[in-house]
Amino acid sequence: MLGSEDRAALESILGAPGLILDPPAMAGYGAAARYGGGAPAGVLRPRTTEEVSKVVAYCIRRRLPYVPQSGNTGLVLGSTPDVTGDQLVISLERMTGVLAVDLEDRTARVSAGVRLSALNAALEPHGLFLPIDLGADPMLGGMAATNTGGARFLRYGDMRRHILGLEVVLPDREGTVLSLSDGLRKDSSSLPLRHVFIGSFGALGVITGVTLEVHRRPTAASAALLIPHEGAILDLLAAVETAAGEALTAFEGMSGAAMSRALANVPGLGNPFPKGQIPAYAVLIELTRSAPLREREPTLDDDLEAILVDIAARPASPLADALIGPADRLWALRHALSEGLRAEGPVIGFDLAFRRSAVFPFRAAAAARVAAEFPEFEVCDFGHIADGGLHFNLVPREPGPVEPARLAALRDCVHSLAVEGFGGSFSGEHGLGRANQDAYDRYVPPRVKSYSAALANVFAQAPVGALRLGPRPGDSAC
Ligand SMILES: Cc1cc2nc3c(=O)[nH]c(=O)nc-3n(C[C@H](O)[C@H](O)[C@H](O)COP(=O)(O)OP(=O)(O)OC[C@H]3O[C@@H](n4cnc5c(N)ncnc54)[C@H](O)[C@@H]3O)c2cc1C
Repeated sequence: MLGSEDRAALESILGAPGLILDPPAMAGYGAAARYGGGAPAGVLRPRTTEEVSKVVAYCIRRRLPYVPQSGNTGLVLGSTPDVTGDQLVISLERMTGVLAVDLEDRTARVSAGVRLSALNAALEPHGLFLPIDLGADPMLGGMAATNTGGARFLRYGDMRRHILGLEVVLPDREGTVLSLSDGLRKDSSSLPLRHVFIGSFGALGVITGVTLEVHRRPTAASAALLIPHEGAILDLLAAVETAAGEALTAFEGMSGAAMSRALANVPGLGNPFPKGQIPAYAVLIELTRSAPLREREPTLDDDLEAILVDIAARPASPLADALIGPADRLWALRHALSEGLRAEGPVIGFDLAFRRSAVFPFRAAAAARVAAEFPEFEVCDFGHIADGGLHFNLVPREPGPVEPARLAALRDCVHSLAVEGFGGSFSGEHGLGRANQDAYDRYVPPRVKSYSAALANVFAQAPVGALRLGPRPGDSAC
């Protein structure tokens, strides 16, 4: 709980609307996007970089712990305080003052609290967009802090590839404001410090502004659902990548179990498969074109059909069947997968990443382990297969709570198989937070943890955020 002196000081910086202390009004800032969350000691809502700087400096001087929060769509309990009631939330939701598009430069400068949808709405009339595509609507500060990936990573990469500049408030007694490489595509005049803050989950500072390279919106998109022959998905990926080249923007894998849940539970979603028969596995591919169509040039739909006919006709083709359909309808199925699973109870989600070649061997081994040791769960996975990303989701077969010890054993089984058995990552794109602190403690090498903690100390004068970066007691010295 904040003392009356702290309340008065923070209110004098932020004004009354900038400080929330009423528990019902704070509840939304404590609740996580999916499950869990905590209890804020108070919610601070600055509107400008200067206000962020002042509240950060105040918190550091008074040793008040805080967690930065943007859209609160994060999935690893990084953006919410813990249950102690001791941590403040610094919400960036009122930091929406700057949204400036530079058409000549093809860049945009935004305050941290601007939502992805608001940026894209401002860019659309100019035929531009930020090509990070996901089933949530986060804020740009949070996206920089988590280095968001998404479904079109294959073609456009993650946030890091688009960020040309960052403004950051450091967790020191002055609330130092750092401006890093503001808007230059090329700048080798100093160490590229902005990259340290991208994907730092709020542990190194509060991001208050982002400058982004934005892209030409596609003028055409064509999509298809591909049914691969068993064991042939990587051959299919290689065939499509070779034939479509740069036009290939997505290669998204969906298990039959996940598609069935989406089709059963998400209203208005049409079943695209002939006779409604859902295959064991399908891949959504998308081709896009940004240049206008020239006279007599084949359309993208023609291109896609020709590519698939050619692949299907090859001896020992990896493609069993294909269905070309309206891109928005096929993407609707892909984007409904999470919601479809959640409708059936608490989803035990794992955001894993592998080398491409390890994705399906891991999937087979993990499914066998789950069937043998945790038969009360069904595997309902989907993944950004071309990026090695696998959302290995487990849904309880029967409703009801999962015992904490059972859940811990399940998480341990999947994580150790992924990291130790298949050389993968326990956090592909959702970042770090309290939900995967145990995996960080266990699988990140002590030397990496030590350097990470030392780097955080360069910027911070007090521990910040939900994450503990340093080695845990008992890690071998380095
Ligand atoms: C339905 C759904 C689908 C999703 N799909 C994807 C996906 O495909 N790919 C993907 O990568 N993610 C995905 N996510 C996860 C999430 O949307 C992303 O991680 C997103 O970038 C988080 O942004 P946010 O604004 O919501 O940040 P928050 O959730 O508010 O914060 C996330 C983390 O960043 C820190 N932080 C927030 N703002 C700042 C700031 N200004 N300065 C410093 N630190 C800050 C927080 O402390 C926290 O650690 C999905 C989430 C949902 C709910």
